[in-house]
Amino acid sequence: MITLKEALTLNADEIKSLTADLENKIKTDKHIGCYVEQFKSEDIKLSLDNSIPIAVKSNINITSWETTACSNILKNYISPYTATVVQNLHKAGLGAFGHTNMDEFAMGSSTETSCYGRTLNPLDNEKVPGGSSGGSAAAVASGQAIAALGTDTGGSIRQPAAYCGVVGMKPTYGRVSRYGIIAYSSSLDQCGPITQNVEDAAILYDIISGYDAKDSTSANIDYTPIAPSLDANKKLTIAVIDNFISEADDCTKKAYANTIEKLKDAGHTIIHKNMMDTKKHISSYYVVATAEASANLSRYDGIRYGNRVEATNLKDTYLKTKSAGFGKEVQKRILLGTFVLSSGYYDAYYIKAQKVRHLIKDEFNAIFEEADLILSPVAPATAPKFGAFESSLEMYLSDIYTISVNLAGLPAISIPVEKDKNNMPIGLQLIGKAYDEKTLFDGAMSLEQSVNYKK
Ligand code: GLN
Repeated sequence: MITLKEALTLNADEIKSLTADLENKIKTDKHIGCYVEQFKSEDIKLSLDNSIPIAVKSNINITSWETTACSNILKNYISPYTATVVQNLHKAGLGAFGHTNMDEFAMGSSTETSCYGRTLNPLDNEKVPGGSSGGSAAAVASGQAIAALGTDTGGSIRQPAAYCGVVGMKPTYGRVSRYGIIAYSSSLDQCGPITQNVEDAAILYDIISGYDAKDSTSANIDYTPIAPSLDANKKLTIAVIDNFISEADDCTKKAYANTIEKLKDAGHTIIHKNMMDTKKHISSYYVVATAEASANLSRYDGIRYGNRVEATNLKDTYLKTKSAGFGKEVQKRILLGTFVLSSGYYDAYYIKAQKVRHLIKDEFNAIFEEADLILSPVAPATAPKFGAFESSLEMYLSDIYTISVNLAGLPAISIPVEKDKNNMPIGLQLIGKAYDEKTLFDGAMSLEQSVNYKK
């Protein structure tokens, strides 16, 4: 599969044949389920004629495309507008190519809760591709896309990238416009690239980033493109969080230790730090995320938005509509979010979670006074088998390494470093200072070269 960088040099005829090749590959590899139903067998449409095809997660609106966030409640919803990130693709000669599968409303870590069915991990079809951007990661990993867009609220770009052996990057909160992206948790959501390598991630990140007046959380600060000046030779100070690693399994621990040695050999300085218990990250995240989700999803009531199940009165219409339209995991989160925001519990849960969130941010800031970057695992283990998580809580606990980054609004990039004994990829992430994506990508280039995963 050619890289995004190579695709950018193709002429119109070559782009046409690339698109045709991808269409064929998608039809042959339909069983992996990277794309949502309407894109699996028909000829795949592009959002812009003769553009370089980029796979786009199903929670990103594109004019005249069915945009559902893989929820029954939005089935047959035809989008009347195009998200800024896709408009930015168009400006660079790229186009959206197929909506990829995802956990319903981006709630999940395995792409098992989509109304279109699950996506398989292309490296082992009995295992999950990760989530929630599992379709995007599996598409890049299986050669059904040259690059893709995902969204990351608590790890949904980085974790599926790690499980599928590709690169996934979550920008600083505010760096990429969320106008036209279906909201899950508005103080955490960010859109970012999933690609075959670090350089492609920088190229796609440059294309989608920048201020957008249509998104009130968009950061109006100077932005200099990164890809043209990537520097893998910069010597950096990289912090490792010693108390984090005990939560990981043995092969992840070993990959982490090996990578630290390789980074030292590349001339970087490693310093050792500790942070608060990751269980507190989980508690804070799942209170904040579900609270915001309950507010964001209240619009899907069958009246203003979404499919309606008719009943004899308004209350029953709401009840029947939401019961039929939302899957179990989404319903659970709406209930939890409504609970933590209700009077009497607001101070005990929501306010406390926000305080913990600030403490996490302070801890990161303190580390970044001495370090340029932080190195951490992406997940405690490699991709699990389907159905391995027996409860929602077990699944939530697999998010321990990714969610603090969103709570603090920081940029981070997940890079495959080694394989476990079953030949499944192990990903590690570098975390950067807010708005310092340049240093993040420089360090990521160096890490990618040091581990030489593709050898
Ligand atoms: N697994 C996390 C959750 O379910 C993260 C999902 C995401 O980043 N969208 O909330």
